[in-house]
Amino acid sequence: MKSDCLFCNIAAGTIPSVKVYETDGVLAFLDISPVEKGHTLVISKRAHSETLLDTPPEIADELLAAARTVAAGMMAAGFGGVNIVQNNFPDGGQAVPHIHFHVIPRAKGRTGPLVWASGSNPYADEAERSAFAARLREGIAQAAS
Ligand code: AMP
Ligand code: ZN
Repeated sequence: MKSDCLFCNIAAGTIPSVKVYETDGVLAFLDISPVEKGHTLVISKRAHSETLLDTPPEIADELLAAARTVAAGMMAAGFGGVNIVQNNFPDGGQAVPHIHFHVIPRAKGRTGPLVWASGSNPYADEAERSAFAARLREGIAQAAS
């Protein structure tokens, strides 16, 4: 891992995050500036790599499987749909140079394409953020059972 990397530090727990799913190899946590309520990021805890192109295939596979687990949990939690996004390189819109998948739930009845509004915070308050995290954790547990 890389000591000056934001997501390596989140993976190690030295920078806090609101966790929704964790295994030996991956961590899923709430995005700090979500484009939709429940917007989750999935990162590897095993190694630092920047983009999909320098990530070992077995780690990319593990990340995609975790993104799928989180997406299944979102559907079990009653969301209407899910967008999975993975940005590469600054010109591809990647702000944090540690590979991550965005897993973005869409509320039931939400129509139209995903709108990427950076710097947004759709949560009413911290209590609502925590409630969404709890809803996702419950949905993921339910989908796995
Ligand atoms: P990308 O543009 O694909 O690199 O996405 C990076 C994402 O990381 C953005 O959606 C940010 O809101 C999110 N982000 C940045 N810092 C943090 C943090 N400390 N905790 C959670 N999410 C973060
Ligand atoms: Zn890193």
